[in-house]
Amino acid sequence: MKIIAIGRNYSEHAKELNHAVPSSPVFFLKPETALLQKNKPFFYPSFTSDLHYETEIVVRINKNGKHIEEQFAHRYYDEIGIGIDFTARDLQQIQKEKGLPWEIAKAFDHSAPTSPMTPLNRYKNIQDIYFSLKINDKQVQIGHTADMIFTVDKVIAYVSQFVSLKIGDLIFTGTPAGVGPVKIGDQLEAFIEGESLLKFEIK
Ligand code: ZN
Repeated sequence: MKIIAIGRNYSEHAKELNHAVPSSPVFFLKPETALLQKNKPFFYPSFTSDLHYETEIVVRINKNGKHIEEQFAHRYYDEIGIGIDFTARDLQQIQKEKGLPWEIAKAFDHSAPTSPMTPLNRYKNIQDIYFSLKINDKQVQIGHTADMIFTVDKVIAYVSQFVSLKIGDLIFTGTPAGVGPVKIGDQLEAFIEGESLLKFEIK
């Protein structure tokens, strides 16, 4: 499996990082080794001193496909979860300045803590879901999927022109505004519609 992550999919977040709002989705990949599941602790890596959380709705692909048309994209997923797209912001900044790929800042081991998946039919509409993150019991980030620049179906249609989607692939659909640093000892807890689905410690 692979993780496809969408950058700059909420305009308020693009603004906070001084990016223009993109005209087509921006995506990058994280490998399977980026997954961190079962609420296992995350160990702060030695190569960064500015590790940021990005809280994102995660969509699980349930059918193989490529060149998927937007109008059929909804047939390719029926479960969602919540995940953290950990980003070494200091390394990412250096890569951006040099015009180099982001992998060292985004694709490292355990950079994608992810909740168990939950059936999408528990929610009324994938583009009308609130999600949030608490650190040490204080809310630090809240998002609403209605604010996505590119809907999940548009993202699937776009990405699948370039990269085949396979059963079990996960799409991290982008972070809303409010990203920030974590430190050792922090307790992170992420919610969909107020329900706690992911909880782990930074060690
Ligand atoms: Zn992200």
